Amino acid sequence: MSDKGRGSVHAIQEVKGIGPKTVSLLHKLGIETVDDLVTHYPFRYDILKRSDLKNATEQDKVVIDGKVESVPLILRFKGGLNKLNFRLVTSQGIVGVSIFNRAFLKPNLGIGTSVIVLGKYDSAKNIITASDIKFGTLTNQEKIEPVYHCTSGLTNKNLASYINSAIMTYGKEITDYIPDKYVEKYKFSNKKTALNIVHNPPSPEKLKEASIRLKYEELFAFMFKINYLKEQNHKENKGISRSVDETKMNDLIAKLTFHLTKDQEKALHEIIEDLTSSKRMNRLLQGDVGSGKTIVAMLAMYANYLSGYQSALMAPTEILATQHYHNLQNLLKDQNINMALLIGSMTKKEKQEVQDGLKDGSIDMVVGTHALIQEEVIYQNLGFVVTDEQHRFGVNQRANLKNKGLKPDVLYMSATPIPRTYALTIYGDMDVSTIKEMPKGRIPIKTYVKSDQEMKAVLSMMYEELQQGHQIYVIAPLIEESENSDLTNVNQLKDKMILAFGKKYKIDLIHGKMATPAKDLIMAEFKAGKVDILISTTVIEVGVDVPNASMMVIFDANRFGLSTLHQLRGRVGRGAIESKCILISNTDTKRLEIMEETTDGFKISEEDFKLRGHGDLFGTKQSGDMAFKIANVRQDYKILVQARDDSKEYLLDTLFDNDPLKQSLIQSINHD
Ligand code: ADP
Ligand code: MG
Repeated sequence: MSDKGRGSVHAIQEVKGIGPKTVSLLHKLGIETVDDLVTHYPFRYDILKRSDLKNATEQDKVVIDGKVESVPLILRFKGGLNKLNFRLVTSQGIVGVSIFNRAFLKPNLGIGTSVIVLGKYDSAKNIITASDIKFGTLTNQEKIEPVYHCTSGLTNKNLASYINSAIMTYGKEITDYIPDKYVEKYKFSNKKTALNIVHNPPSPEKLKEASIRLKYEELFAFMFKINYLKEQNHKENKGISRSVDETKMNDLIAKLTFHLTKDQEKALHEIIEDLTSSKRMNRLLQGDVGSGKTIVAMLAMYANYLSGYQSALMAPTEILATQHYHNLQNLLKDQNINMALLIGSMTKKEKQEVQDGLKDGSIDMVVGTHALIQEEVIYQNLGFVVTDEQHRFGVNQRANLKNKGLKPDVLYMSATPIPRTYALTIYGDMDVSTIKEMPKGRIPIKTYVKSDQEMKAVLSMMYEELQQGHQIYVIAPLIEESENSDLTNVNQLKDKMILAFGKKYKIDLIHGKMATPAKDLIMAEFKAGKVDILISTTVIEVGVDVPNASMMVIFDANRFGLSTLHQLRGRVGRGAIESKCILISNTDTKRLEIMEETTDGFKISEEDFKLRGHGDLFGTKQSGDMAFKIANVRQDYKILVQARDDSKEYLLDTLFDNDPLKQSLIQSINHD
């Protein structure tokens, strides 16, 4: 037996050189423990090797070192942008260097300073447009330099030094999730060595080897959890068997203002079958945005209510939870069902009331966010849980539900169709219902890819739409809501829209950094038609329903994955109006043109999967444990399959049942 798994958790303040100020900067990056710090992997490596400028083409990234020869000149533009220019003496002659938005570097770029410039070389103008400037000189040996996600106040160099200091001091204590058996089998290096290499790569070969080891480890731990949950599911498969009052169900269905599609009927049937059988439901309901999954889930909640149990519906955002709540109320308004909403932004007293109602059983149905599965929420007889956009709920949260001592049937809804091979691996433990057919009367959305130069045409299309009394979404490329520069961009976009349309139309802005009440207010105004153009970041990505919004303009569309674009686009085309979606981008147009060609979410997700790997598919950042730190499920598919098989073998082998590592893996599932 090894003593692995006993790795102790150190807070980052214990690392030499990290003071309180740095602690809060590191927290901004989501780094709280030494473990987080050493697994803050570079997102890129710069290969520092002197280029031969004579042979560089404009596409090539060049690297050159030299000394600053002229006092840097700063040009300032509207909107706070700036450009810094200086001349550099190199071993290959003098070249001009220009770099955007680094005016702050000027004081450090005195004449004679040695710098390394990375960028694109325009030989006609003899200018390098730099993407980065580092201080120092190149050696004749190639150097591989890690580049980290930083935050203002914390440079790449600082980060590297903290990481290295942590590896040095705590490297041996950091939990290694690979059992010895497999370390030996694959002749892996120890964890400390591997970490050291990925943060200080001596050669591309060594880097690759170390990365494989760390990827395997990450996937092993992940697949162990999946396998464990699967096993648990098999073991405690006894769920609630109940009878459903079909007459009442049919009465409600007959009262709907539309007919369910065949696929909806089939899905509902499958779900009710699960509810009535003693088998515990663990089902994925997948279907494109707008295919009508939610109504199916709500009907199933009604079925569960009729058999005397509480239901919960969990959504990824407060906006969406609130919308679901209103829809559910509307659907069941004649049924005298006691419903409640539970979201983080409610007052303590309001929350308490809901919690009391759930505990004493007076509340039959509850809609909310993650707040629903917090420890303090106790249910009297929870029989059915629906989670919307399941990919946003991690494995640990799924386990959390089960740990409430309840064995509710669980239905996961997803509008992100998952390619089959992939689903088999990660969601291999689920039954799947699929809605392919869209409700009748839906008019397909027309999508156009446009360049910046075609902005005028885009504005006039927008104008036309507004004149017809329709509303427009404008999506700004704010991916990392923490990036302040992006936030400025959104505000600038708002100014531009006001300039173009502000005289006649109302324009508003919504983004993830706003407080919930403010967001909800704007959303409500947009829904009520009081706002004509809603500028938004991806907070509206999921589920929000405004039928009069018939156009969406997405700026810098190239910054989004196809699946995200598809989700975004699904916000329009929800009413009887023919809707348009404009994707603005000067690059990557070939990929974007797939969006012009098809509105089939499954096809798009396959393409996305081929092109980008898992990243976007699971909405990386939001998805918790789906966002791997070093592995990439598409590129590392082989490692994933290996890790899946090995972790299963390890789980099932009772010889290892007392292994501390196995126990700590299991504990991490139960306690997260
Ligand atoms: P999803 O959850 O799959 O994105 P929703 O359930 O929110 O889709 O449905 C989108 C819209 O279509 C809702 O306004 C819903 O009332 C409506 N709808 C659902 N099913 C049908 C149907 N069979 N016929 C017409 N409209 C439908
Ligand atoms: Mg939905």
